[in-house]
Amino acid sequence: MSQGDMNTPLLAASDSDISEPPPIGCPGDPVIAILGSGDYSRSLAIRLLASGFRVVVGSRNPKRIAKGLFPDGVELWSQSEAVASSDRLVFAALYPEHYHSLVGLRDVLAGKVLVDVSNAISLNNAGPSNAERLAELFPQSRVVKGFNVISAWALQTGAQDGSRQVLICGDSSDSKAMVLQLARRMGFNPMDLGGLAASKDIEEAPLQLFPSWGGPIVATLLLFFFFYGYNFLKGVLMPYLAHGQNNFYKLPLETVNEALPSVALVTLALVYLPGLLAAILQLGRGTKYKRFPNWLDLWLCGRKQLGLLSFLCAGLHAVYSMCLTLRKAAGFRLLNAAFRQVKAGVENSWEEKPVLRSDLYLSCGILGFGILTLLAITSIPSVGNALNWREFTFVQSGLGYGALTFSIMHTLFFGWDFAFFPWSYPYYLPPAYLLALIVPCVVLVGRLLLVLPCLAFRLAKIRRGWESSLHCPPKTCQTETANRHPPQNFSDV
Ligand code: NAP
Repeated sequence: MSQGDMNTPLLAASDSDISEPPPIGCPGDPVIAILGSGDYSRSLAIRLLASGFRVVVGSRNPKRIAKGLFPDGVELWSQSEAVASSDRLVFAALYPEHYHSLVGLRDVLAGKVLVDVSNAISLNNAGPSNAERLAELFPQSRVVKGFNVISAWALQTGAQDGSRQVLICGDSSDSKAMVLQLARRMGFNPMDLGGLAASKDIEEAPLQLFPSWGGPIVATLLLFFFFYGYNFLKGVLMPYLAHGQNNFYKLPLETVNEALPSVALVTLALVYLPGLLAAILQLGRGTKYKRFPNWLDLWLCGRKQLGLLSFLCAGLHAVYSMCLTLRKAAGFRLLNAAFRQVKAGVENSWEEKPVLRSDLYLSCGILGFGILTLLAITSIPSVGNALNWREFTFVQSGLGYGALTFSIMHTLFFGWDFAFFPWSYPYYLPPAYLLALIVPCVVLVGRLLLVLPCLAFRLAKIRRGWESSLHCPPKTCQTETANRHPPQNFSDV
């Protein structure tokens, strides 16, 4: 394809015309060919047609395609006829193992942009990607990888309902620009990932199972096992071994509900701890231009997931707590207490202190959970994107610390003064809520220290690019500045 061809826009309309797409399938619209007549081809054809393109589907046997499978306006031809009639863009909507069946189309495909929409069969496959193999098979065509992260369903239902991000890569920048423009016109949010070498990652993207969730899930599960095990040991196993007391009925509900708030609280503290460590590192180093250790980078990247897992545990704790009174055990306990009270001749069991305590801890818990819900909602990209940087920081950091404070108060009011009585330490084991408070209190105190003017001022200066002469002597400063690492993603936390 000549440079002149490349300068001719594929799409007649400019981006500013997108709001008023031309009528469907008009003669004169850009013609796009799709090879293959399967599910993906059908969804792609529907979407392209709706975006104002003429669509030609190339099949090995167009007569075999059931009537009505493709919408009116989509033309069904043989593979070579379809490719020949396309302006420049041809989608290969078949499985990679069938790419070799297209080699007869080499000549007619020469100079065209061939879009590979295939997914990888499995993760970490050795050898070239599907797109690279397609490029080897068709050296005279320009292969661009893209659209595979969008399912056939999302293509059909429209960009509003499904994912909007389309990952695209390719070695020819003109051809890639054409596909990026096409994706935008179809209502998607294209993202250029560079050359075709990135195609392996793009092909594997739909197969990844929550890639950024592994660490946070493992951390939350470990915390759950720790607190569940601790409460089991203290409230079930030790009483059984020491006194033959059968508390095993507590295992499915009570012990779970004792572990969940501790996990929620510690996990929420773990959301804010890495930001604190990053700030301490920056203060200590006197610069923000040195990379954080890898573990801290990973931790910083997992904060959203940790926050959502904390929200999940807190939500489960709220539901479990509301169900506590529905249990048979609660009914029996109430009857037993009432009987004991009658036997003791006590008419009024109202006590001011426990009433105040329970109201305070419930209220703090509800407020903490309410703020946590707000944080979870603003972490949804469509909601978060509607906030500017200051609003987002206020919610995620300012209100986040509010949620942590209320959760700590909820726990403190729950524990009340029990931590000061020896009977709270049976078998020399401290109450679980005391253990759960350690990390959150450290984080809160650390945060308060960072608000001290002497530290806050210095940190703000460092984050604006100032470097301490102690850590960066004037002579080496220039060299270091020249070689310094790019700024940290989360240096502003
Ligand atoms: P499909 O429904 O099985 O369609 C594949 C098409 O390939 C068939 O309709 C057929 O078209 C052609 N074909 C079948 N056997 C062939 C052979 N032996 N030789 C040559 N052509 C053959 O598959 P699909 O779901 O549309 O997927 C197509 C591609 O899209 C795959 O690479 C897949 O990874 C990718 N993709 C699919 C989705 C999705 O949601 N379905 C999402 C992302 C990516 P003709 O008989 O008309 O030639």
